[in-house]
Amino acid sequence: MFVENQFTSQEIVTSPLTRKRPRPALGLTGTATLTHAVTQTSARLSLSTQRTSALVVCWRCPPCYTLEVAFTDIIIRFERGIMRYEYDVGVIGLGPAGMAVSVMASNMGLRVLAIERRALGGECMNVGCIPSKSLLQMAHVRHTFSRTSEFALSSVAKLPDPIDPFQTLGRHIRFINERKTTKMFEKVDLKLREGSASFVNAHTISIGNKTHTAKRFFICTGTQPSVPPIPGLDSVDYLTNETVFQLDSIPESLLIIGGGAIGCEMAQAFSRLGAKVTILHVDPHLLPHADWDAGKTLEDVFAKEGIAVYNGRGIRSAAYEGNAVVLQTDHNETFRGEQLLVAAGRLHDHSGLNLEDAGVEYSRAGIRVDSHLRTTNRSIYAPGDCNGAFLLSHAAMHQGMLALMNAIAPWPIRFDYAKYVVPWTVFTDPAVAHVGWLERELKESDIPYEVHEEKYEDYGAAIAEGMAIGSVRAYVSKAGRIYGVRIIGQGAGEMINEWGLAIQNRMRLSKIMFLQHSFPSMSFLNKRVSERWMMKRMESPFLKSIVRWLY
Ligand SMILES: Cc1cc2nc3c(=O)[nH]c(=O)nc-3n(C[C@H](O)[C@H](O)[C@H](O)COP(=O)(O)OP(=O)(O)OC[C@H]3O[C@@H](n4cnc5c(N)ncnc54)[C@H](O)[C@@H]3O)c2cc1C
Repeated sequence: MFVENQFTSQEIVTSPLTRKRPRPALGLTGTATLTHAVTQTSARLSLSTQRTSALVVCWRCPPCYTLEVAFTDIIIRFERGIMRYEYDVGVIGLGPAGMAVSVMASNMGLRVLAIERRALGGECMNVGCIPSKSLLQMAHVRHTFSRTSEFALSSVAKLPDPIDPFQTLGRHIRFINERKTTKMFEKVDLKLREGSASFVNAHTISIGNKTHTAKRFFICTGTQPSVPPIPGLDSVDYLTNETVFQLDSIPESLLIIGGGAIGCEMAQAFSRLGAKVTILHVDPHLLPHADWDAGKTLEDVFAKEGIAVYNGRGIRSAAYEGNAVVLQTDHNETFRGEQLLVAAGRLHDHSGLNLEDAGVEYSRAGIRVDSHLRTTNRSIYAPGDCNGAFLLSHAAMHQGMLALMNAIAPWPIRFDYAKYVVPWTVFTDPAVAHVGWLERELKESDIPYEVHEEKYEDYGAAIAEGMAIGSVRAYVSKAGRIYGVRIIGQGAGEMINEWGLAIQNRMRLSKIMFLQHSFPSMSFLNKRVSERWMMKRMESPFLKSIVRWLY
């Protein structure tokens, strides 16, 4: 069992351009010491599967690695041609990653066994993205009543009370599960099995007392909430994302440990639905892994909405006093709340999968995969949160798709998951979104960059619609190469995708500038940022003289 303490660090690892490519996982099952003619480095005897191929390679040397990949690929394909398996594809876990693999694979005509121990849709559908956004939307609607006077409407004497918000959430999720997700599985030809799977060997898994074989397995088992080792916490009935959406009602007061995406989203949702919320966390500001000004903006907004934020606080102890949960901090403060939500990281617990018997290596950061999402056993892939690269639903779905395509495609037609940008959004109000390099990453890497920013408060549409908080900020080269973009404000989650497309396709800012954006949309600010960059270029006396001459 391993603990990933910083959920946010894992959750928003955002800069694929800076990501170090993982060392190729070579499926090594035996070692020998040889001497490479050129590099004189130590080498290994690589056995791609335990049964057949044996090839001597220098595993540090790219040509040897490439040779080994090609060779073992041929051997594995040959082997599988003569082996008989019940299924072509075995998928363990049916969250976004597992659903992508299993639905795509069965649509492609492969025989699929899909196993889920809890609920279709995984964390995202049942205890993550969907219920959290639904609760945020209820909170947003209620909060709007407190702003009626800003929109030339008479103010309401009393805000509407939440009526059964969690039952309503439950109904939404049941509806989506029954009418949409299950229906999607009914349309495809696959075998769905309920239960907890664990490996017997690389091609066999057991579920209860039954075993099944498959040519390739895809581990899509995600993560679990991590609970920090706080003295006394065991004796407290704390909430995590797995239980918070099953409350009976909005508590009068809520303490939250953790100031990352989940902590911030839940803080605003519960506060706007009537709870007195306090966030306690160890980092110097909220959203510690975003650009610092994002956390600062949220802190200001939260302060206005009555959410108390205590940065840089370690929790010394937790206990009950009567019905209240009491937390003591390392600043000798005491906080009381009716409920406590722990949103302090994600846990990589793969112990139940018996990965050792399948030859799959893992660590506290997740299951080890190569750039093609293959584990240390070449027949087994591990897309999604379980590999720890990005703890995001869309990344999990994307990796599921890539892993399946990599399993089908012959070498060298394979997809490197790290080459795709991963935009992310924290769905608070204002939302915070980012794609590409963070500003501090550019600084740390000594990359010269310019900042071009357009504020919502300077945009007529944002002012008129009462959304004047935030800005679009692009980090770019002089020549307009886009390194990264962060957006704080209304519509950030939608607007960031345009930048993701631009960065992934190596477009320059001029492409955004020449694209007409519908007006008055918030994404018009994207275009304005690119115009700012162009205007900055036009400050050059040389360019000005050329313009005058041409004119
Ligand atoms: C409160 C909250 C809000 C979030 N909001 C967002 C958001 O807005 N946007 C976003 O992109 N991401 C969000 N996330 C993250 C998102 O939920 C995850 O990134 C995503 O669900 C990961 O997908 P996955 O398929 O890798 O794993 P999961 O969704 O975790 O699915 C794994 C599945 O595997 C099953 N499983 C595990 N072990 C076994 C086994 N041995 N046998 C059978 N089944 C097994 C589990 O039961 C689970 O259903 C949020 C998370 C939380 C907690």
